[in-house]
Amino acid sequence: MSFLSLLARNRLALAGLIVIGIVVLLALLTPWLPLKPPNVTDTSNRFQPIFSDGALLGTDHLGRDLLSRLMWGTRLSLAVGFAAALVAATLGAAIGIVAGYYGGRTDNIIMRGVDMLMAFPYILLALAIVAALGPGLLNALIAVAAVNIPFFARNIRGITVGIAHKEFVDAARLSGMSNTRIILSEILPNVIPVIVIAMSTTVGWMILETAGLSFLGLGSQPPVADLGSMLGEARSALITNPHTSVVPGVMILIIVMAINLLGDGVRDALDPRLKSGALNRPLPATMVARDRQPAPAQAEGILTLSDLQTQFHVKDKVYRAVGGVSLSVKPGECLGIIGESGSGKSVTALSVMGLVASPPGVIAGGSVRYQDQELIGAPYGTLRSLRGREVAYIFQDPLATLHPLYRVGDQLIEAIKCHRPIGRAEGRRKAIELLEAVRIPNASARIDDYPHEMSGGMRQRIGIAMALANDPEVIIADEPTTALDVTVQAQVLSLLDDLRRERGLAIVFITHDFGVVAQLCDRVAVMYAGRIVEEGATRAILDAPRHPYTARLMACVPELGGGKRRLEAIPGLPPVVSNLPEGCAFAERCTRVQGDCRKGEIPLENGVRCLHPVTYQEAPA
Ligand code: ADP
Ligand code: MG
Repeated sequence: MSFLSLLARNRLALAGLIVIGIVVLLALLTPWLPLKPPNVTDTSNRFQPIFSDGALLGTDHLGRDLLSRLMWGTRLSLAVGFAAALVAATLGAAIGIVAGYYGGRTDNIIMRGVDMLMAFPYILLALAIVAALGPGLLNALIAVAAVNIPFFARNIRGITVGIAHKEFVDAARLSGMSNTRIILSEILPNVIPVIVIAMSTTVGWMILETAGLSFLGLGSQPPVADLGSMLGEARSALITNPHTSVVPGVMILIIVMAINLLGDGVRDALDPRLKSGALNRPLPATMVARDRQPAPAQAEGILTLSDLQTQFHVKDKVYRAVGGVSLSVKPGECLGIIGESGSGKSVTALSVMGLVASPPGVIAGGSVRYQDQELIGAPYGTLRSLRGREVAYIFQDPLATLHPLYRVGDQLIEAIKCHRPIGRAEGRRKAIELLEAVRIPNASARIDDYPHEMSGGMRQRIGIAMALANDPEVIIADEPTTALDVTVQAQVLSLLDDLRRERGLAIVFITHDFGVVAQLCDRVAVMYAGRIVEEGATRAILDAPRHPYTARLMACVPELGGGKRRLEAIPGLPPVVSNLPEGCAFAERCTRVQGDCRKGEIPLENGVRCLHPVTYQEAPA
């Protein structure tokens, strides 16, 4: 979504943009407008009221045309305000970037200098600078810019410090780039949005400050006037001829209000999080837009998905990430879901509890039953009470799911507290129990660790402990071992296996690794382009995969002790889910493809969605 269309969604910002646009345009065109000269006095026509003949906005105490003076004054005020903002932003950002990037002593010296500037009351500092430099518009500009530099420097330094230690900057350093190049090509692009935001929210303020200095006679000098000095000159006639003050006053009000509204809009629209999800917050549960209520499915297992369809509606495109998935898992059973990256495994898992971000996610059809309860379209309260208590998730990246600033024990206790009240001591005991259940050595000491003090494998076990906190009936594990090394992976897998035997958990285990499936799962479903293409008992499928995709996928797995053999990559790429082909989605990459593969809907028959499955009189393709 483009910046402008985001901005236009915010009515107030749009109004601000239009108003300030008109004012700037008029100010630019002033020299060519049919106005009287602004500085020619005509004492016989002093204090003409508004709407008098030949003077639309009246005249001032010297008989000068107020409309003309207003336009020229606005031009001057805008120019000085914007120039001051530009100077302050450029210098302030440069100071902030240098301080934040180099850090250490450079940072200390620069920032203490900035702090000294900030220690003075703002407007007094500006007055002192003008007093030192002498009155005049240029000096007022310098003063206003100078007092605003610390604001930009502080802001940008903070952002730069955050970026300077990111991996991509380290990578740039390792590649031998000079500091100057890193600053220009890696740091600057990332701080420019912040600079723009800070500028857009301070320009109005700087115009006010310049006007303030001019009002006190320290800015523009007679006969030239900006909006501030117009106000200053009108001060003595405030009671007798208020229109001379009202005219520049209203203009200042309009300009500053329009700029501030626009600034707020710019800030919102530049926030990258708002770009994908527009200006709406994500809903607490995925949106449901089913044409018809599905017939209540036979609840075969504890969790049953039937014909689940989840889509992403992005602009005018529809991404069918999950295109009709039916699955079922029984207590004590482990069901594997396997498939290439992007085949819709995660979206399927997240749809169960309405966790797909919405917008853009929409559940467009099908049903999910937990025990006897329909979850799709269930009220948010119901979903929330089930999330974590009955159906719990384990995600791939434990660092992303653990809060970095809380001790792991407190996070475990909090997970329990979401669903039932629990005292401090009891919570702690339960948390230690959980850590022991996931085989964390020395649990009673480890409970007070922060996430960063644990290894990746331990953190993943904390994730599992958290999922177990409320004794759920179903655990959905989305590639929980992908980020782990093989020994830790083996430990985590045997842990999950024990848990399901001990507690009768139903596990849905998502992975792209056949080795993991073989070790843990009773049944496995193979996903491709948002659909299940083959499903059955793990042994049967591992021994005799019938869908050509499954067969090819397994041919990609290296075998220990199997000697050196060529690993077969599957040629081609999975189809884009916004534009799925007719018939079989795998046809494009399949060696067994025939004419009828590309026509009509291909049903899942006897556990395989293929018209020409591999048969085992012949060798697998
Ligand atoms: P995986 O099988 O690797 O877990 P996912 O379920 O995450 O795959 O993704 C399935 C498809 O949905 C992918 O094609 C992905 O591009 C698409 N997708 C996921 N999230 C979004 C989103 N927020 N907006 C648009 N498309 C998405
Ligand atoms: Mg995934």
